[in-house]
Amino acid sequence: MRLELVNTGTELCLGDVINTNAAWIGQRMAALGIEVARQTIVPDGGAVKEAIAEAAARSDVVLVSGGLGPTNDDVTRESTADLLGLPLFEDAKARATLEAYFARRNKVPVASNFRQVMVPAGATVLENPMGTAPGLYFPAALGESRGWNCHIFLLPGPPRELKPMVEACLEPRLREWIPDGTSRRVIYLKLTGIGESEIVESVEKDLEKVPGLELGYCIGKGDVDVRLAGQPGPVEQGAEIVRSRLGDFILSEDQRVIEEVVIQRLAERGEWLATAESCTGGFLASRLTDVSGASKVFGHGFVTYANEAKQNHLGVPEDLLAAHGAVSEPVARAMADGCLRVSGSDYALSVTGIAGPTGGTEEKPAGTVFVALASKGQETVVKKLFYPVSRDRFKLLTSQFALDMLRR
Ligand code: ATP
Ligand code: MG
Repeated sequence: MRLELVNTGTELCLGDVINTNAAWIGQRMAALGIEVARQTIVPDGGAVKEAIAEAAARSDVVLVSGGLGPTNDDVTRESTADLLGLPLFEDAKARATLEAYFARRNKVPVASNFRQVMVPAGATVLENPMGTAPGLYFPAALGESRGWNCHIFLLPGPPRELKPMVEACLEPRLREWIPDGTSRRVIYLKLTGIGESEIVESVEKDLEKVPGLELGYCIGKGDVDVRLAGQPGPVEQGAEIVRSRLGDFILSEDQRVIEEVVIQRLAERGEWLATAESCTGGFLASRLTDVSGASKVFGHGFVTYANEAKQNHLGVPEDLLAAHGAVSEPVARAMADGCLRVSGSDYALSVTGIAGPTGGTEEKPAGTVFVALASKGQETVVKKLFYPVSRDRFKLLTSQFALDMLRR
């Protein structure tokens, strides 16, 4: 099945709004086993009609987002009706829904709002529970006179309106149309602690031998997705190859990122984690608290940037700092041990390094970082790493490594 997206909006072309709809839809379609064949972004106005016509002529399904609103530059509805030669009628049910929407908010619709309840003959109204502009579905038969065989969906632009409508109105229809749709499988194996090229080196030759297996790689934030798609047999066979070779590096098979995996694992065991950060400035704690439910496992996050802070809050001895410097194996260890003690947690992660890009010495160049994991009743483990990259990437890679120490 060939599916194309047309995302409309001058603000998207100007770069004022990022086209998150396309990214989200791409992922939703991939999960259904459909690869979006093309994405087109066009400004509001005449270009919308042209883009829909081009896409519909070569596709089975075209999904158009945006331009259904009440303003003059919202032309998606009228453009599509015009292309298909369909007259517009006021839809009584859509009008009632619109009036009820405004009444609930103690507001009165203005004349332009009623443009949104005009429906091209033969099109189906798709209810928009989150907004005023209903969507529209044009069955493929409506385009026959133009020689098209394409189902066209018009959905509102705001992501909070579009997403539930994709789930409720588009995906059920797609599932019916996909040949063997029910038997197709997609597995995402998320790996961390190993680079894309090493993954390719280790498994690609054998994966390519599996007949009918579609293979893709996607570099994420500190991790890599191996995407396996096709019929269930080959996909499972491919997944087994990756599991047996690279099992230690597999973080999840359900798209969960490392902070989610770590938090869930700690929650299952009823254990607590604390953090003591220097060069990552709280980024590690921030990643942990991105996960809903973090409060059940994460109680203390120290940002001890200055030496005095490391002494006062974590009990790192002054002479240790003087003898080895803040960026050192013994200080990383003392930070983790102190953090474990002060917080009373089961685990403590500490980070101390030189984020760069300037600073550092010959012995400890910018990018040098020590990460330590202290665990109740166990020997503290310290690792020395070197990430001579931009500051934000340094924080990402360091926090990823720290979380991975805990996961293993
Ligand atoms: P409205 O009734 O709000 O005008 P609409 O269907 O006409 O709805 P647009 O005018 O195209 O939609 O977009 C409204 C807002 O939705 C935009 O300003 C933008 O913030 C957001 N939006 C639109 N398209 C996208 C997109 N592809 N990705 C992310 N956000 C988008
Ligand atoms: Mg609009």
